[in-house]
Amino acid sequence: MDSRTAYVVLAMMTLANSGALGLILRDLPELLRPSVRSWQAGTLVIAGGYVLHAFPSLPLAVMVTLSNGAILLGLTICWRGVQQFDGLPRKSWQLLPAAAGTFAIFWYSALQPDTLVRILAVSLASIVILAGCVAILADPGRRDGSRSRQLLMILFLSIMLLNCLRFAYFAWAGIPADFSIADNGSMANVISPLVAAMLPVIGTTAFTLMCSERLRRQWEHAASTDHLTGLANRRTLTEMGRLRFETARTREERVAIALIDVDAFKSINDRFGHEAGDLALKHVAASLNAATMPSDLLARTGGEEFVALLGQSEAEPAQMAAERLRLAVQRHPFILRGMRIPLTVSVGIAVSQEGDTDFDSLLRRADQAMYTAKSAGRNRVELAA
Ligand code: GH3
Ligand code: MG
Ligand code: MG
Repeated sequence: MDSRTAYVVLAMMTLANSGALGLILRDLPELLRPSVRSWQAGTLVIAGGYVLHAFPSLPLAVMVTLSNGAILLGLTICWRGVQQFDGLPRKSWQLLPAAAGTFAIFWYSALQPDTLVRILAVSLASIVILAGCVAILADPGRRDGSRSRQLLMILFLSIMLLNCLRFAYFAWAGIPADFSIADNGSMANVISPLVAAMLPVIGTTAFTLMCSERLRRQWEHAASTDHLTGLANRRTLTEMGRLRFETARTREERVAIALIDVDAFKSINDRFGHEAGDLALKHVAASLNAATMPSDLLARTGGEEFVALLGQSEAEPAQMAAERLRLAVQRHPFILRGMRIPLTVSVGIAVSQEGDTDFDSLLRRADQAMYTAKSAGRNRVELAA
């Protein structure tokens, strides 16, 4: 296949890929759509640049300026897509490499024809844009360990390095007098369409997978986390609790839990409103969380009720851990609009014993102990019988 045909095939593949991306766009949440739209637009503009290669009838200066200009602009739009994926603002100079590159191509093809300088200018502008993408995807603070993100980063890096090679090669070897992009004997012309295919074809696949991985993680997080406090939710507690209970039973060990209920919480809502109540709940969650050990699991199981799956499995250390939780809340009053609002919790502890058939029976006993703490005057810890 000659390189002109290769570019046309590539443009068609990009179009098909972009159409597929357009189809899945509706399934994506609002937050991801701008970045996918940018990626789609960027690859389409790049494809437009490739198609121009197939029109040998166009004057050379017009063809190379439009074609390379489109590729540089398309790359810049893809770069914007990567930024949007990470919620980053655009850079004020972001269009500059594409604009300067295009201007240089125009100058050195129409006004002062020089193929070497033209190729060096395109390579340099591409390197700057691709480096922008690599910098975002490789940023250790943003890396999420997902394979698709790594793949996209490696892809951008490879294309960038190939551009560096092209730059170095032409700068060193110069340009043959009869150089043409349609010359199939030139190694550069055989490799170029292959390199060009990487971003709109493999890149789009990697980008789509990166979006789906982001979605999977968001769903997983939403399903296991309490949205108000960020603590584990009831579902996570039940799963972990059942697992720990069964493991402990087979090893003839114990499990201890603390059920924590905020005292007189209704009055907070009644006096200051539901929104202030929500802030108070977040505050209690933070105080409790700061007082838990790494081996504990703290969950918000509903309303103003929390459960800590304790790392300690004997009654006495479990009681000390629960006392630490109770004191943490008491010592950190909730401050609302400069007002100190004291908060306390009542805690019921249950340690697994022979009669407990499952994790739920342990929860029921902790609940009873918590009610005993309430009737005994609140702001105290009670151990289940
Ligand atoms: P006690 O000391 O006996 O536990 O008294 P209490 O007022 O804490 O208990 P009660 O069960 O009567 O009231 C709990 C209140 O918690 C009622 C409800 O309006 C409030 N609540 C439950 N979930 C939320 C929530 O997500 N946000 C807010 N702001 N309030 C909530
Ligand atoms: Mg309650
Ligand atoms: Mg309560």
